[in-house]
Amino acid sequence: MKIIYLDHAATTPVRQEVIKEIIPYLGIEYGNASAMYSLGRKAKRAIKNAREQVAKSLNCDINEIYFTSCGSESDNLAIKGFAYANIDKGNHIITSKIEHHAVLESCKALEREGFEVTYLNVDENGIINLEELLNSITEKTILISIMFANNEIGTIEPIEKIGNIAKEKNIVFHTDAVQAIGNIKIDVKKLNIDMLSLSGHKFYAPKGVGVLYVKNGIKFKKLQDGGLQENDKRAGTENVAGIVGLGKAIELIYNEYEEYNKKIKELRDYYFSKIKKEFKDAKINGDIVNRLAGNANVSFKNIIGENLLLELDKYGICASAGSACSTSSPHPSHVLTAIGLNKDLIDGTLRISFGKDNCKNDVDYLIEKLKEIIKLEK
Ligand SMILES: *Cc1c(COP(=O)(O)O)cnc(C)c1O
Repeated sequence: MKIIYLDHAATTPVRQEVIKEIIPYLGIEYGNASAMYSLGRKAKRAIKNAREQVAKSLNCDINEIYFTSCGSESDNLAIKGFAYANIDKGNHIITSKIEHHAVLESCKALEREGFEVTYLNVDENGIINLEELLNSITEKTILISIMFANNEIGTIEPIEKIGNIAKEKNIVFHTDAVQAIGNIKIDVKKLNIDMLSLSGHKFYAPKGVGVLYVKNGIKFKKLQDGGLQENDKRAGTENVAGIVGLGKAIELIYNEYEEYNKKIKELRDYYFSKIKKEFKDAKINGDIVNRLAGNANVSFKNIIGENLLLELDKYGICASAGSACSTSSPHPSHVLTAIGLNKDLIDGTLRISFGKDNCKNDVDYLIEKLKEIIKLEK
């Protein structure tokens, strides 16, 4: 059976151009980048090339880029690493209620160690309130961590404004941009972003590789001790193949932003128009304007999202109920709770996230199957 993959916010397939770049580094180019001989130096050059590709895409310096193993590690390193290195300046951190668990759990871990954390509310579309942010700042605030775009509902936060506030108040600003990259062209200088997390597998590179950007001059403590890799900030022999793939993937997407976004936005809007026509009482979640092009989060009444997923799976359709990270969790999504959805609607939520290889037929097929399944369930 053909797979209709509509879960790109959970992970993306590695694209062919990226696989082609990676293969030599899984095979003949197996050198350790720390070794002196030419095989090692070739691996080192490949990593440098990837670092340049990432730095160019974000408009930063190559020595501001640190490769990690995933988006979660980048978030941990940014938040805990920064907090530990700057405790002399203060112990207060501001974040939001709708962050990824990698950010929320890092903050909770810090709270257990004596840090204070403010979790900002969001409105019914998932956007933070800038007044509340301003009012939360104290002289002990050292860090603001607000995600660029939400993984469940696709809402894009007012990043430039947050960056300006942080700069004015002399507070460091971290953003989890794992979902945003590929959808939004990010210029860390223009947006006053001090630290930023990325993950390869969300933009057509392999799993197991991430990026943390840290502006020069910002102190952070390494969380993994050992060798001197990544400028002594992240010990461990580099995942050369993964890093090469991430570099290639970011370069490709950087050159395709407009085309890519136009295409998936058209698909999403087509899906929304069909949903409105066929399911009169369905609710579209997230901000309709400030929204990732590929995200479509819809709540159906009197439907159990998990059942819907299992039924869709029978037809080869991959989608998500709220958040992939939450499927094994018995708790309702913290994001959908924070935007004020009642439990009934949370239970009936289906997240579709479009990617570069989807087409209109996929939407038609999905709608056809949704109509069948939802009629049966009611
Ligand atoms: C997927 C995701 C992460 C975690 O990235 P991993 O590479 O899977 O650890 C963090 N933040 C957001 C917003 C994500 O969507």
